[in-house]
Formats: sequence, structure tokens, C-alpha cells
Amino acid sequence: MFEDGDDDEDDDGFRGIMAILPIRLLGDPVLRKKAQAVNKVGAEEKALLRDMIETMIAAEGIGLAANQVGVLKRIIVFRQGEQVRGLINPRIIKRSSEQEVNPEGCLSIPNVQGDVKRHAQIVVSGRNKEGKTVQYSCEGRVAHCVQHEIDHLDGKLFIDRVVPDTLCWVVHETNKETGEEETKFIPTTVEQVEATFARRREKAYVPQPSETT
Ligand SMILES: [Zn+2]
Repeated sequence: MFEDGDDDEDDDGFRGIMAILPIRLLGDPVLRKKAQAVNKVGAEEKALLRDMIETMIAAEGIGLAANQVGVLKRIIVFRQGEQVRGLINPRIIKRSSEQEVNPEGCLSIPNVQGDVKRHAQIVVSGRNKEGKTVQYSCEGRVAHCVQHEIDHLDGKLFIDRVVPDTLCWVVHETNKETGEEETKFIPTTVEQVEATFARRREKAYVPQPSETT
């Protein structure tokens, strides 16, 4: 028997202080590791789920996996319409033979987008924050998102699956003549993206001179 998960966001589990967690970026080894199954849904897992939801909302994302906040537990959160879902040990139990291509991005690879081919419809099962088994039917962008997040738990990123020649930088610019915001898509490659994030990481690791000495 499956419980319907529609009441996932009722307030009992989400009271108290929430935290926005730092999101790990491409090049961080944790993104390439396999997350471990959660045996018991305890206070720690509930708090993590809550913080992941807040982090996803703050980052204006549609999904987030625990690896992305540096935790190797099989936990994902995602949006489905107005609902925010949290799943522990998510598993795809049904998938359509039909596949479709959708553009994807990732909070761990900001300003990069590319097309990915995935199953068009899936049913995902897992445990909610109360430890109850729930399942959700997903299609279109939501189905893509769930498959993307479960990939994260296996150390896979969308750039591993991107349709060749669709990867691009997404650059927001103000047009100097019209003053309007414009979005530009500049073609790139996986190698260029990895090199750019590697340089970014090196810069981030430069120790900052102390302001007090
Ligand atoms: Zn992602």
C-alpha cells in the first residue's frame, strides 16, 4: 500500500529554524560520489530535507540532490506544480519507453544549459519525511528533473548525458541601445565548462588576507 504524498508540505515537519546550505559547484569531488541509502529516517534526515527545500527555493531551483549540499545520502527534493516534494531513497519504479529531449541546467553548474534525452513519464517511489512510502507520477520537465536528481545520487551530471552541440553558456546582458535585459546562448563544450569551473575553484581557494592584521 502506498500513501498519497500530497500532504508532504504540511507544517508539522517543517517547523523550527531552517538553513540555506552552500551549493557545491562542478569540480567538487562530492558531486562525483555515489550517495548511500538512508536506513532510518531520523531527526538528522528530516532537518536535511527541510534545509534542502529551503536551499532549493532560495536558489530558485526546481530540484536538488543531497550531494549538491555535500551530503552523501540518497535524498532529493523537487517541485511538481505548486508542490515541493522530498524523497528519501528515491527509486524509479516505472518508466515510459518514450523518451523526450528537454533543456536542462543545474544549480551546481550555474549559467550552463544543454539538451538531455530522458524518459518522458516515470513513477518515482521513496520515503517522505515521516518515513512513509510514497510514489509520484511525473511527466515532462518534472520527469526530467527527478531523473536528473537521481543521477546526482549516483555521481552523474547532466553534462555527461548532454546532446552533442547543445551545451551553452546562458548570459544575461543589458542591451546598451535599448536598455532591455537580453539572454544570450553562447555555444560551449563540456571541456570548456569543466575548465572554467576548475579555474573558479582555484580562485575560491586563495586564502584571503586577514583584515584585522
Ligand atoms: Zn543538478
